[in-house]
Amino acid sequence: MGSKLFNYDIFSETQDELIEKVFSMDKVNIVSGNPEILNLGLHDEKILNLFNDEKSIIIPDGIGTVIASKIVKNPVKEKIAGVEVMERIVEKCSITNKSIYLLGASQEVVDKCEDVLKEKYPGINICGKHNGFFDMENCDDIIKEIDVKNPYALFIAMGAPRQEIFIMKYMDKLPCSIYMGVGGSFDTISGKTNRAPKWMINCGMEWLYRSIKDPKRVKRLGVIPKFLFKVIKSN
Ligand code: UDP
Repeated sequence: MGSKLFNYDIFSETQDELIEKVFSMDKVNIVSGNPEILNLGLHDEKILNLFNDEKSIIIPDGIGTVIASKIVKNPVKEKIAGVEVMERIVEKCSITNKSIYLLGASQEVVDKCEDVLKEKYPGINICGKHNGFFDMENCDDIIKEIDVKNPYALFIAMGAPRQEIFIMKYMDKLPCSIYMGVGGSFDTISGKTNRAPKWMINCGMEWLYRSIKDPKRVKRLGVIPKFLFKVIKSN
């Protein structure tokens, strides 16, 4: 039983418990539930249904979601960052001989991301990769490749809502066990962008760091107070 936010069931245990649960499921879609992503579902019924599907686990990714869970007096145990979950899954796959596929970002970034992960997790089987700039209505070749290579985990770094649409369209057609939309995580892992310093992450200020580094993101920040306002109103 998670933390209820609107109709969402937010995973409210620890990161360790999440990893254990993810690897015990036959098919799972991990949703990085930050206010921007959760807000998408409030405006799009298909995305809402995907997030509320029994195969989906919504993780409290971001201080906005953690605060929201406190407002509804059903606090999550801890913030769980999507990029950290991705790395935990890669690590576990490298130890247990399970393959992964990287789908998303530019060709340069996905190539570098592959190199970094191979260096950091020796033995990891990255059975395939593809950049995230393709026509989703005409991508049979990519779907066929993923199907044939049959990765255990498929990471999709194409930003929202593109990655959610991809998961909606193809999750049931593909044989992978773990699906995870990871936004800009390939950029972070490849070193194209940096995560905030640890002290900023710990006090929930990562959003501020990302906005300073990339001012184009500032207008996306408006969604956090709007989301919290909706939470307060619905409470
Ligand atoms: N991207 C992609 N295909 C597209 C548009 C974007 O693969 O058609 C990639 C982009 O290169 C970047 C990621 O999606 O790596 C989006 O990152 P963003 O910072 O928007 O995601 P966030 O972490 O904020 O969810």
